[in-house]
Amino acid sequence: MAESGETDEESAAERVTLGSWRGPLQVHCGHCGEFKRAHSLKLPRTLEEGKRRFHYVREPDIAWFRRKRSCTACGTEFLTAEVDETLIEELLRLRQREARRRSVAYAKVSQEFRVRQKWLDTTGDDVPKELAAELVRGSAWWLTHSSGRPVRAPRHADRLQKLYCGWSVDFGANWFAAGRALARARDYAKSVFLLASGGKLPVERELKLRLRKISSGCVLNVNRDFYDDYPENGAGELVFGAQAIDVNDCERVLMRLTGLNDLLIAYAKVKIEE
Ligand SMILES: [Zn+2]
Repeated sequence: MAESGETDEESAAERVTLGSWRGPLQVHCGHCGEFKRAHSLKLPRTLEEGKRRFHYVREPDIAWFRRKRSCTACGTEFLTAEVDETLIEELLRLRQREARRRSVAYAKVSQEFRVRQKWLDTTGDDVPKELAAELVRGSAWWLTHSSGRPVRAPRHADRLQKLYCGWSVDFGANWFAAGRALARARDYAKSVFLLASGGKLPVERELKLRLRKISSGCVLNVNRDFYDDYPENGAGELVFGAQAIDVNDCERVLMRLTGLNDLLIAYAKVKIEE
């Protein structure tokens, strides 16, 4: 336990009004992340805020004296609760116990969902054809359908060919390297499972963004060379003449096939479990 060396309380504020050189005492400011001098403010008399002494009805020994503080460094206003110090020690013990429980549970669910996806053990561009087909079926569109609206074009999956970069499908002059997209998603997913087993699952938005970016890097030109980054149109599509691959569809399919979707759900359950 570290000592923070301040003594007096409310009288410090009084000394300020008397023009003392000492100023307000130091309190830990959550915004600054360190001890800063903080003024003691009056509590507004609205609702319960005017009251200072509290306890929980079901846990009467959790009782505290409330103060409102204003950090002189950043101006943040916050409430403090003065309690018996043994409560802080109890909080520490409980927090550490909870962290141990979560870390065991995180490792367990990560391993469980990782082993379910056997295809993640593949290497290079050698991913199963049926998964490449699933990716194409779930993301290919025919933009100039006679109905006047784009329609899904799942039959492109029937035309997969094995190129040097794995299962791919041609759209006229361009190719979509579905196998490469899966391989890249797999490699990313494996790193995520590893992080997750250590309790550090990236947030959902980050996972999806990474998977979403994959498909535009998996387009070949007529010479079968990769574009660095095939441009999306405004609707999130990689357009090849009258056909397109929808990058948002790709993201959804890859989230599912890698098992990252299931991992996210299981992880969230660990967090809220009592
Ligand atoms: Zn501050």
